[in-house]
Amino acid sequence: MKKLLLIATGGTIASENEGAGLTPKLSPNALLRYAPRLSRMYSVDAISPLNLDSTNMRPENWLTISACIKENYNHYDGFVISHGTDTMHYTASAISYLVQSSPKPIALTGAQKSITTEDTDARTNLYDAFAYVSDGASHGVSIVFDGRVITGTRARKVRTKSRNAFESVDYPNLALVREGKILRYIPEKKPSAPVFYDRIEGNVAAMKLTPGLGANALKALRGSLEGLVVESFGVGGVPSADGGELLKEIGLWKREGKTVAVTTQVPYEGSDMAVYEVGRRALNEGGVLEAYTMTPETAVVKLMWILGQTRDADEIRRLFYQPVAHDLLSLSDPEE
Ligand code: ASP
Repeated sequence: MKKLLLIATGGTIASENEGAGLTPKLSPNALLRYAPRLSRMYSVDAISPLNLDSTNMRPENWLTISACIKENYNHYDGFVISHGTDTMHYTASAISYLVQSSPKPIALTGAQKSITTEDTDARTNLYDAFAYVSDGASHGVSIVFDGRVITGTRARKVRTKSRNAFESVDYPNLALVREGKILRYIPEKKPSAPVFYDRIEGNVAAMKLTPGLGANALKALRGSLEGLVVESFGVGGVPSADGGELLKEIGLWKREGKTVAVTTQVPYEGSDMAVYEVGRRALNEGGVLEAYTMTPETAVVKLMWILGQTRDADEIRRLFYQPVAHDLLSLSDPEE
């Protein structure tokens, strides 16, 4: 029998409404009692290092979750993290950086409706996540939700209410789970040993450009942040019609040893900043990093992970452009 650990962190899946709105209440064992077949199929233990609405999830909580995986790594064959859906994709990215190359599968799941309700998606999602992590070919960090298995760095919440809340952005689903069986689309070689990291810099944020946004908006953030991901327009660029004030402000961030990266607010296909002058100037004069095919959420979390490891500008650049767990996809020319 596979030995599996449920790491319960809260979310709607474990919520009840006692009058003030839904809030996580159920213990992990109570969660398991709503899915009674699990304990007949696997040897399941459960712990609950956190019990949060994932709106309240913070970078230090990701470290708590990854420490929990590290502590228990040798005792279990796989890990299911139950989590709120609102920031599940951020946590999935974070765990992808904090626990790299894991030969054991780590799957996040949750639900749009509490497991206590009749029409809940929670039971199916839990059964699917356990089915996926119990399969010998599974490894690495993923989100298992509504029958889809999505690589941890490529997920985004795209629906606030429906069961198909998550999508894999610009990357195929790894697998489907149908009635407890795995239909694997992308079989991959299992890595041999995990690499754990235990530091992260939480003072990184994203800022969405809107037409006319001035340099003062960036300046206001400079004192409190170590890194910024600018969600620009289209294939990516920084507006220069204000006499280059935004670029000058970015220069000040750099002079203070802070990192600025540019991504796009367009949901698919990533950035390509070499196309337009506004993009090239940001790269050449602003010295910004470019997120290319990383999702904006993943770019923020990657920068947090990198700044937790180093403040050396060359090393930051090297790590940002080094693909981890399919966060950065390479576009190649067709071979002759
Ligand atoms: N607000 C909830 C959370 O993220 C939503 C959910 O779990 O679906 O914790």
